[in-house]
Amino acid sequence: MKVNEVLEDLKRRFPNEPEYYQAVDEVVSSIEEVYNQHPEFETNNLIERLCIPDRIVSFRVTWADDAGRVHTNMGYRVQHNNVLGPYKGGIRFHASVNLSILKFLAFEQTFKNSLTTLPMGGANGGSDFNPKGKSNAEIMRFCQAFITELWRHIGPDTDVPAGDIGVGGREIAYMYGMYKKLARENTGVFTGKGVEFGGSLIRPEATGYGNVYFLQEMLVTRGIGIKDKVVAVSGSGNVAQYTVEKLNSLGARVVTMSDSGGYIYDPKGIDAEKLEFIAELKNLYRGRIREYAEQYGCKYVEGARPWYEKCDIAMPSATQNELTGKDARTLLANGCFAVSEGASMPSTPEAVDAFHEAGILYAPGKAANAGGASVSGLEMSQNAMKLSWTAAEVDEKLQVIMKSIHEQCMKYGTLPNGCVNYVKGANIAGFMKVARAMMAQGIL
Ligand code: NDP
Repeated sequence: MKVNEVLEDLKRRFPNEPEYYQAVDEVVSSIEEVYNQHPEFETNNLIERLCIPDRIVSFRVTWADDAGRVHTNMGYRVQHNNVLGPYKGGIRFHASVNLSILKFLAFEQTFKNSLTTLPMGGANGGSDFNPKGKSNAEIMRFCQAFITELWRHIGPDTDVPAGDIGVGGREIAYMYGMYKKLARENTGVFTGKGVEFGGSLIRPEATGYGNVYFLQEMLVTRGIGIKDKVVAVSGSGNVAQYTVEKLNSLGARVVTMSDSGGYIYDPKGIDAEKLEFIAELKNLYRGRIREYAEQYGCKYVEGARPWYEKCDIAMPSATQNELTGKDARTLLANGCFAVSEGASMPSTPEAVDAFHEAGILYAPGKAANAGGASVSGLEMSQNAMKLSWTAAEVDEKLQVIMKSIHEQCMKYGTLPNGCVNYVKGANIAGFMKVARAMMAQGIL
């Protein structure tokens, strides 16, 4: 297998899907050597079977706004690979959604879910519906229309969706409600549900907390503590909020958060009270991060990302390709020594190269943000057993899983000089498990 041939073939067969090529390139480049040590993988054409999703469902979603105007959006589900368990992955509602983005997310999810040690395959889906400025009733009607099409392709042992950008507890609840009505079953087919109807405690917190747990594991390898470290976080949604909460509880000082309009810089730190303000602003009033600067009299930079502010640690937690090579060089010049990704593929390949060249601690989202997928897996287990674990029990299991993911990265990613290439480690560990299962299950 040669990386450039794999990529050329994908580009020829699936034109104009840059995020998808980027995700494939990162994985295939990391596993090339290991893959070529197993001639049976090549005979069975594992790489092509792994790069191309098992199935893609696409459909029209028609819904009416509050004024009675009728709109149409596209809906998709990319069922990437179910060799380890039911398809599992997020649903994203954002104006930018297209097949390239969903294929990259589904591809990543297969390896991430493999790393969690839980029996889950990889999938992703969503719509180009823009939830910004929509009323609750409009969100509900859209979710119901979306599920009216998708419901027949998902199920507790088939495909279990979760949240992602633009899809939080509110949207999951509306989709789950409609699914139950159509399927006439209470099997918990979504994860991220409300705790009153089968959701797991710690699921909302899991991605952010998990990222901080992973960061701690990395810091330990260099004898560094997290207390008093200055952290730049991007985003102000689910992942960012719980990342900041956990960082605060460990004594770090978070100085930035952002949204698609710009970022705030608060050198005194976004403490628990200020974070509460952000949670209300974002989760209840669906407001803009700019309002934080107005409330607390700090700097707001319109149309920019926070990577030019001095920090020890960066935790990108908004979206893909939000941290460029230039941003990475600025972070490094300002003394940043660790980057742990809450978002999916937030650093461009040039940024990743810069981090590796500098030898700093760098964790790709595939490993560092796997806490969300992990607790989704734990939610599925609780639903299947028809019982609920306490917050402490789930948190403890989450910590064990993040530790194990870190160990897998160390096992496969430790370089001769003793440094760990977490990209290589995560990709090889995730791939080997999927590859062994594919080999065992025959040509499908
Ligand atoms: P949310 O919708 O809750 O928050 C997303 C945040 O990112 C918002 O602050 C949003 O700003 C900002 N954002 C979105 N798109 C852009 C953009 N194009 N440019 C700048 N900012 C943007 O999503 P999540 O917190 O759930 O997800 C964030 C990231 O984490 C995604 O990459 C997702 O794939 C990843 N992730 C999430 C998991 C989860 O459990 N939720 C699990 C694993 C990964 P605005 O409000 O202005 O849109």
